[in-house]
Amino acid sequence: MNKPIYPSSPAFSAWQAYYQPETVAEALRLLAAHDGAARVVAGGTDLLLEIQRGRHPEIQALVDVTGIAGMTNIARRDHYLEVGAAATHTQIVRSAWLQQHAACLVESCGVIGGPQVRNVATLGGNVAHALPAADGTTALVALAAEAEIAAAAGMTWQPILHLFAGPGQPAFDPTRSLLTRFRFTVAPHSGTAFSRIMRPQGVALPILACAVWVQLSQPDPRSPITAARICLGPVAPTPQRAAQAEAALVGRRLPDALEDCLAAAHSELHPRPSKHRATAPYRQEMIAVLLRHTLPLAVHRAAAAEPFPISHSPIH
Ligand SMILES: Cc1cc2nc3c(=O)[nH]c(=O)nc-3n(C[C@H](O)[C@H](O)[C@H](O)COP(=O)(O)OP(=O)(O)OC[C@H]3O[C@@H](n4cnc5c(N)ncnc54)[C@H](O)[C@@H]3O)c2cc1C
Repeated sequence: MNKPIYPSSPAFSAWQAYYQPETVAEALRLLAAHDGAARVVAGGTDLLLEIQRGRHPEIQALVDVTGIAGMTNIARRDHYLEVGAAATHTQIVRSAWLQQHAACLVESCGVIGGPQVRNVATLGGNVAHALPAADGTTALVALAAEAEIAAAAGMTWQPILHLFAGPGQPAFDPTRSLLTRFRFTVAPHSGTAFSRIMRPQGVALPILACAVWVQLSQPDPRSPITAARICLGPVAPTPQRAAQAEAALVGRRLPDALEDCLAAAHSELHPRPSKHRATAPYRQEMIAVLLRHTLPLAVHRAAAAEPFPISHSPIH
């Protein structure tokens, strides 16, 4: 069993033990041994602030997953791209493969915090925090990613939208399970884009963010859109797709379908006001602003997309 490496400092007296397991099995054993009183930590950019603010008096131990083999890899496997849950935003931004095949993920992770935050904060932490405004999560929804969850019963792949029970509440048990990897497929003639509206000096989440995935029938920006996925956040207690806006695009081409898509998004999405970020009407207006920018960019990238090679080699 992994031994705690140092006791808590006086500033963070909330925990007594900090573990650095090297395997997923060991991490699960440590979580189980603490019977609800241990939490996974990765970059700590969300969790440690919450602990400092006294939000988790129950936490006695932290299980750091950043040293677990495989959890920081970015790998191509068959027709999937896989991103380890403990991959940092900086790793994601620098991945040539993600730049080429998952631009929305690179763009979303590239605007999280500043360089210091991105160097330690992870995609798994962004998702597990379960906020509908989390930028990496918004991109993963547009990519129709799946997440691998490790628990005592074994490893399972779940659609990304199944991970959320409410704002700040993951649908998996955060005291006995962990996210290990994300994966998504790369379809031919598909492209993505992400953009957001953020207060210049504000709290650490966007006013509104938008990620789009589209597939074209031909490598031509004027060809019909055969499939689309749109995620705007935050527009609900959990991350959501804009199903009617997506439907307004399918079988049609840009710019013809753009106004119908915007109208559908406007009528189906109802962001709430936030006292730190924006009023609800402002967010509602920004839906069209973001889509007008993001959608044509995703279509342009889909038309220019390189084919996705299939192999088993790890990539970075
Ligand atoms: C200054 C600042 C600016 C920020 N700006 C943004 C921003 O612009 N956009 C944005 O979306 N976020 C932002 N954040 C929030 C935060 O940095 C991100 O959400 C980050 O990705 C969290 O990752 P982490 O590794 O630090 O998570 P941690 O703080 O380590 O963990 C967060 C939560 O996830 C759980 N967790 C972590 N890893 C796993 C795992 N593998 N499996 C299961 N549970 C896990 C932890 O138990 C905890 O509950 C900002 C934070 C700061 C401090």
